[in-house]
Amino acid sequence: MSTEACAHLAAEHEALMQFLYLAPVGLVQAGVDGEIAMINPVSAQLLMPLARDGSLANLFVALEGVAPELRHLCATFAAPSGMICDGLHIQLHAGGAGDRRQPQVLSLSLLKLDGERLMAVLSDVSEQVRRERQLRQNDAWLNALLTSITDYALVGLDRAGRVSDWNPTIGRVTGHGEALVGRPYSVFYPPGATTAEQVHDRLREADQNGWSLDEGPRVRADGSQFWASSMISPLPDGDHALRDSGDAAYCMVVRDISDKRDAIAQRRRAAFSDHLTGVANRRAFFEAAELELARHRRTPRPTTLVLLDIDRFKDVNDRHGHPGGDAVLRALGGLLAGAVRQVDVVARIGGEEFAVLLPSTTLEGAVAVAEQLRRLVAAQAVPYDDAQIRCTVSAGVAASDSEALGLDALMKRADRALYAAKANGRNRVECWTQPRGARDDAR
Ligand code: GH3
Ligand code: MG
Ligand code: MG
Repeated sequence: MSTEACAHLAAEHEALMQFLYLAPVGLVQAGVDGEIAMINPVSAQLLMPLARDGSLANLFVALEGVAPELRHLCATFAAPSGMICDGLHIQLHAGGAGDRRQPQVLSLSLLKLDGERLMAVLSDVSEQVRRERQLRQNDAWLNALLTSITDYALVGLDRAGRVSDWNPTIGRVTGHGEALVGRPYSVFYPPGATTAEQVHDRLREADQNGWSLDEGPRVRADGSQFWASSMISPLPDGDHALRDSGDAAYCMVVRDISDKRDAIAQRRRAAFSDHLTGVANRRAFFEAAELELARHRRTPRPTTLVLLDIDRFKDVNDRHGHPGGDAVLRALGGLLAGAVRQVDVVARIGGEEFAVLLPSTTLEGAVAVAEQLRRLVAAQAVPYDDAQIRCTVSAGVAASDSEALGLDALMKRADRALYAAKANGRNRVECWTQPRGARDDAR
């Protein structure tokens, strides 16, 4: 190439870089190892809150705490170039009560330009996400109305949520007979899939909003399970078919949506689960936790959080390589998910950090759960290559009981307890205690 052509190319490249620099969306050019080569001002602004020491040197490191799956996605992207992820939502903080900030969500698309370079496109989509959530709710509501009439059971409930009378639709969908009358409606839920407090909450929710909708596994009289959506609404005081037969205060419509479930579940799984471990991701965790704490504010009761962090995980990576570390993360996700109740939410919220949200559980109860999980992890060996990888976890436990804490405050407390567990020797459980004489700024 002539020097003239070279100069021309260089000038063109310079112009392109200038354009990228000034673009109104966040752009980051990085190596396949995440090392940042160029970052424009919009990206810098979006990512700076994540930079631990105020410097942004590596994209994966900056995002490790909030999108731990990125490195893995890149490493397993085999094509020489193409879209590694398209509009991945990254939850930065939860917002919510006690925290005046709105929840903040970034959207990240990652392009592999060639064997050496990545381009990340970032934008703030917090507002869209809020609107989408609202739309989803409306969707669910409409769906409940516009369903075919053969697959639903119409159930009357008394003020306490007990089935107040029996009709053939109940028999058709659930197989239950007249003996059902007087039983709490949780009889339709598999063991561990709901708590007495949640049953109570849904009734209060229906009182306040006019309806309460919830989707999940249900059980028939013969023990077989199906996937259903149930909507509870308070009955108007006037005359109603259900009113005549007993003292029904609510009407519950249970729809068997097993057919639709696969498609819905698949979509939800893709958006709400962690690619590597299959447990909930940060986004799902924040949504579930916000919901639980909002309910908690209406009806005070203990909700506890356990944060778990693998001990000396860097050593696992050093000794067995990143894929070895990944195998440990996968095994840990499986172990945690298998060891807790169905209502508990297990999520991977950072690189090697997991959270377990325990609704209606006291601090003592949560410490016992954390202790059991710690013991299970310590006893487990993860087969990888020819090795058996062993590791331990430290756990921090915090509760939002009499005082209704916001999610960020609860997380902060659990994080402090976790820090104490690390400082006190690792492979142990600590719970948050009010620092004596110190102002509690974790609120
Ligand atoms: P500590 O006991 O203090 O927690 O020690 P640690 O080594 O676990 O310390 P730290 O939390 O600083 O290290 C976390 C490590 O986890 C560093 C990071 O490279 C690794 N990591 C983060 N995400 C992943 C991942 O998705 N896969 C693998 N294999 N490693 C990851
Ligand atoms: Mg660690
Ligand atoms: Mg860590």
